[in-house]
Amino acid sequence: MRIDDPEFGEVLVRKSPLARGVRFSISTSGRLQMSVPTYTSAFLAKRFLNSNRAVIREKLPIKDPREQRARDYQKKLLSKKAKEYLPYRLEYYAKLYGYTYDKCRLTHANTRWGSCSSNKTISLNIGLMKVPEPLRDYVILHELAHLNHMNHSRDFWAEVALHDKNYKTHEKKLKMLNPGV
Ligand SMILES: [Zn+2]
Repeated sequence: MRIDDPEFGEVLVRKSPLARGVRFSISTSGRLQMSVPTYTSAFLAKRFLNSNRAVIREKLPIKDPREQRARDYQKKLLSKKAKEYLPYRLEYYAKLYGYTYDKCRLTHANTRWGSCSSNKTISLNIGLMKVPEPLRDYVILHELAHLNHMNHSRDFWAEVALHDKNYKTHEKKLKMLNPGV
């Protein structure tokens, strides 16, 4: 359920059978989020919201509704670009260097550029579409190397170095950037 609030913008209402009362928090998109017990009606949710306005205003860093919409738009755009590019780039390098993975997943976490699971699923962050190509390729090569080494051992880095000689610089540059949208 969503409430369109004139002051806070779009408010996400999460119903949970475990919620005992109302809790307010901030979603990753900077929106106000409230978790309420399952039986809560829209009317009741709005009433909770109204009676907590002062506290919310004071304690929670809610993004301006215009900023919320701008971010949504940027995320949609990045996600579209990522879908049309990252799976193919991954496939290209996998074929080129003889790696076999199972699936490619696109993520939008705030913390990781990519990951590789033990069941050979490679996850790539849509935020990669914001960084220069050499850094993007480095993340792909890094995750592919994890198919052979599920750690950051010396052997792992030796394998990364085979395909990206500048991997150290790329790793350093990525650390200074934030994958979040
Ligand atoms: Zn790694």
